[in-house]
Amino acid sequence: MELESQEIDVLILGSGPAGYTAAIYAARAGLKPVLYQGGQPGGQLTITTDVENFPGYPDGVQGPQMMMDFQKQAERFGTDIRYGLATSVDFSSYPLKVTIDETDELIAKSVVIATGASARWLGLPSEERLNGKGVSACAVCDGFFFKGQDVAVVGGGDSAAEEASYLSKICNKVYMIIRRDEMRASNIMQQRVKNAPNIEIVWNSVTDEILGDNEVEGVRVLNKKSGEKKEIPVQGFFVAIGHTPNTEIFKEWLEIDEQGYIKTEPGSTKTNIEGVFVAGDVKDKIYRQAVTAAGMGCQAALDAEKFLAEKELEIA
Ligand code: NAP
Repeated sequence: MELESQEIDVLILGSGPAGYTAAIYAARAGLKPVLYQGGQPGGQLTITTDVENFPGYPDGVQGPQMMMDFQKQAERFGTDIRYGLATSVDFSSYPLKVTIDETDELIAKSVVIATGASARWLGLPSEERLNGKGVSACAVCDGFFFKGQDVAVVGGGDSAAEEASYLSKICNKVYMIIRRDEMRASNIMQQRVKNAPNIEIVWNSVTDEILGDNEVEGVRVLNKKSGEKKEIPVQGFFVAIGHTPNTEIFKEWLEIDEQGYIKTEPGSTKTNIEGVFVAGDVKDKIYRQAVTAAGMGCQAALDAEKFLAEKELEIA
């Protein structure tokens, strides 16, 4: 099938804080950005609950609400927001080519990549088999199904602590399976889970197997210190062990580090390809906060604006 082609100045891929902030800045600069929302419109914050650390919301805000606010602000200045996923890119020549949903080709003078990161899985066959049958990576999406039941959460970071804390309000009992004898989560989140009367932390343990044929019935954990295995009956199993950057389609063209994050010039959002800028979790493995992603989105739009202005002078 013939691809439909369209030429634009700024193409933004992704609709998390980085993408929408880039859109707000690019739109206000009169660059008429086109933003594709990707597979999860609004990004990771749409599957979280309270956001308490984004400045400007003194009473906190729900993640999905915050992302609707971001979208509205980007729309207010004329961003063309579209539903669709970038499925391939061709950065071999300028202008840049990006294919959306395998059908529409966009020819862009600049591209801001803000495709974020996706939840990581343990990789057990039982996890794959029981996915959607009690195994989930999103407590906010699926927690309701386990009302009054017992569940397990794997991971010891802020995400796991947040998920466990959320589930403790709905479920009877929450087991947190943590592979070391300490948690990676921030102090405030650690205190929250340690103070919850119905959260039990299972230290030094890894998941050996998720039990059940057609639905989750329990989890077998292995204590790495004692070598002991034990079975814990649970109906829900939540995986919260971090994220992998969404960089698959860019690997052929952009410099990527060993963990899959896109590399940029120090102190800039520029990549190794002229006109391609990057912002948010797709390049940041250290901070990974909504506010830092938004800040990078702003930088990427400003870098793109400067780049386009210089290009214009070259042509004139
Ligand atoms: P993370 O900080 O990378 O933590 C991942 C956790 O999963 C760690 O406890 C890690 O254990 C464990 N883990 C990794 N692979 C595992 C495996 N195969 N089996 C068992 N356990 C495994 O990821 P995150 O919690 O998603 O947080 C990502 C970033 O977002 C962080 O910067 C965090 O601060 C931020 N965040 C902030 C908030 C908030 O402020 N409200 C909420 C959510 C996330 P080890 O420690 O042993 O490696």
